[in-house]
Amino acid sequence: MSPSYQAAPVIDEKLEAIHAEVVRLNPGEPEFHEATRDVLESLGLVIAKHPEFARNKIIQRVCEPERQIIFRVPWQDDQGEVHINRGYRVEFNSALGPYKGGLRFHRSVNLSIVKFLGFEQIFKNALTGLPIGGGKGGSNFDPKGRSDTEIMRFCQSFMTELYRHVGEYTDVPAGDTGVGRREIGYLFGQYKRITNRYESGVLTGKGTDWGGALVREEATGYGTVFFLTEMLQAIGDSVDDRDCVVSGSGNVALHAIDKLQQLGGRVIACSDSDGVVHDPKGIDIALLRHVKEVERLRVSDYAQLRPDARYLPGGNIWSIPCHLALPCATQNELSGRDAAVLIANGCIAVAEGANKPTTFEGVQLFLEGGVAFGPGKAANAGGVATSALEMQQNASRDSWSFEYTEARLAGIMADIHQTCLETAEEFGAPGNYVVGANIAGFQRVARAMTALGLI
Ligand code: NDP
Repeated sequence: MSPSYQAAPVIDEKLEAIHAEVVRLNPGEPEFHEATRDVLESLGLVIAKHPEFARNKIIQRVCEPERQIIFRVPWQDDQGEVHINRGYRVEFNSALGPYKGGLRFHRSVNLSIVKFLGFEQIFKNALTGLPIGGGKGGSNFDPKGRSDTEIMRFCQSFMTELYRHVGEYTDVPAGDTGVGRREIGYLFGQYKRITNRYESGVLTGKGTDWGGALVREEATGYGTVFFLTEMLQAIGDSVDDRDCVVSGSGNVALHAIDKLQQLGGRVIACSDSDGVVHDPKGIDIALLRHVKEVERLRVSDYAQLRPDARYLPGGNIWSIPCHLALPCATQNELSGRDAAVLIANGCIAVAEGANKPTTFEGVQLFLEGGVAFGPGKAANAGGVATSALEMQQNASRDSWSFEYTEARLAGIMADIHQTCLETAEEFGAPGNYVVGANIAGFQRVARAMTALGLI
């Protein structure tokens, strides 16, 4: 049976005033303004049902980070030239556990982006049901074209300040765009050197030889596909034999492609920030991984090695007809116009592997158009959930098998899906996973904040 979808309720007056104050207090931070608005829009009915949340000013408190750290990161390149970057760690909310969220190294990183990601992370982490608070960090350092030794020197300098703010019971960073196993290794090495402690639980996404968990690397992409399969099952459909388009070709995209193919989906396109590869016979994932992870090349190089693939420099991946669309690259990469094209081309479901890749207009069109839409804070929560499983293994000095960990991940994604579905139904927006995720995540945090008193 196909559920009846409903668009998000319009923001009410009291919440509008709270949001106006958030905007006033945080000028020049459009990404943060948008992320807070997106959540507040869903909360009118929750506040009506729980006057104690309004009395305790939970919404105002949740919009204010507990702590924001901004620091200088000086480092030298291979030619001896000195560079100065800016480092950030926003420790947003620790009502449910130590701050947890990735570090992003990308030239676009600024306080607004870190705060938007940190705010999203609070509710995403709450949805996992695991004991983790929300935080995020990073730097405007651009790792593209940098040598291994330059990356190492940057990571060492970054950790030389960050080490005093993190810890297994305080704040546990992980990877994000531009931060993978290599960077986590250099960061962990420097933390160990400064503190003289082998504190595995201080970072997640570690190599499996030195405290990392199996499946962590795959978890965000795999988890997004698990969430997608749950959404499809709810409308009597599946991934099998469906045409899929996955944007990006980084960590999340590669593993999403892999899992879609394992489940019988045909992934016909992926991309990077330079262009799109259209491969109608289906992406050769082994070749793509080799090009990206071993050779560290571009999707244009992949296209050259595949006779049937076409490379579209600067192309728009969403104009390629598909049944299932997975934006797995970056924020605001899928506009209202793209959503209209996807719907016209017969797209039935969208699962966000990236954080807020769909613009506000795009989300509205998907909801109104009856497309099953899985927002990032629910659909891509598998990465942080598996990070929490890595923390559990570190704490008990244990390591679980791939199969066991993947089954745990699949179970967590099924639970998140069910929670979103039931919450959306309870609050009068059946089939609307945006409302379901926002309300379910907020309620868990709000209950904990209320119980912990005014802190
Ligand atoms: P990576 O750095 O590994 O990959 C990002 C990919 O997106 C690259 O292929 C990059 O191409 C591409 N990209 C960036 N901008 C654009 C653009 N404008 N158009 C097309 N492609 C683009 O990052 P991740 O895969 O780790 O993260 C991707 C997204 O998923 C981010 O939003 C991140 O916050 C989110 N996420 C990641 C998690 C994780 O565990 N890694 C967890 C939860 C969410 P190029 O090389 O050209 O820059």
